[in-house]
Amino acid sequence: MRKIPDRNIEAAKAAHVQAVRNYVQTKGECYQRDLFEAVTAVCPVRYDFAEACRRDDWSWLERFLLADVPTLRRLTQEKTEALQFEQFLKLYQNRFCHGADTYVDASTCYNSYSLIQNLGVTVCPYCDEEYLHVLKSRDQKTVRTLELDHFFPKKKYPALAMCFYNLVPSGQACNGIKLEESLGMSPFEPEIESCTRLCPDLPMGVNMEAVPVEECVIHFHPGGAMGENVKTLRLEERYLRHRAQAHRYLVLRQNFDETKLQELVRLGIFPSLEQAREVLYEENAASADQPLLQKLKHDILEF
Ligand SMILES: [Zn+2]
Repeated sequence: MRKIPDRNIEAAKAAHVQAVRNYVQTKGECYQRDLFEAVTAVCPVRYDFAEACRRDDWSWLERFLLADVPTLRRLTQEKTEALQFEQFLKLYQNRFCHGADTYVDASTCYNSYSLIQNLGVTVCPYCDEEYLHVLKSRDQKTVRTLELDHFFPKKKYPALAMCFYNLVPSGQACNGIKLEESLGMSPFEPEIESCTRLCPDLPMGVNMEAVPVEECVIHFHPGGAMGENVKTLRLEERYLRHRAQAHRYLVLRQNFDETKLQELVRLGIFPSLEQAREVLYEENAASADQPLLQKLKHDILEF
């Protein structure tokens, strides 16, 4: 339930579209025509294939590859049959995800690893409790500990296999649990973070020092479609192991809530609220590292 950071998305989109377009351009006219017919049956345009070729116009392809999550959702509901063509599924399987040395576009060495690195996602956005690694193995091969999840499953909607907003970098645990099931909200959707509030349900004003760790069972309090994510990915069950962390944050909030931090700043113990948080909450917003369980921390400490 973490939003994929906006700062990298535009560049990642541009690289993705360019590579797929370069690939399609290497194919013969027959392939391009079939693809044009299939794509425009889903996203209609006012011109035909001959005109697109004459104008060297690839907007039909780009528009489809970059369709946003609400558009993809609508297409899955309204155009299921038209989403059965397999050119993009084959591209995904044979080039995009076929290992670190196989490329969609050899000129830019573009494949799934490039997308992962371009997006700069290092923590699983579905659960916020798994690191995503791209590493060198002992024989210097590039390996990864993450999957690209098809938010709208590729078995059901093969045509969406290469759509940018359908490719969610996610940990092996989440991907292994989700498989071909559908979720309610995508980590590309801005509301994904505000639709849950992670916190144990404890009585108001309880002294945290007297509450045993086992009682700090974290509830997600999901709103809207997020209930489906929490249920399908078994998030509350998986977060049982984070009770000690939740307890630690609750003790911290009890001892140093916002009012107390302001007091410490007023007394000159810290020069600013940010610095007080940096020391007491171990919070460093400027750090490039993305620690795990940030959502839990922010929800409990309320900042
Ligand atoms: Zn995960």
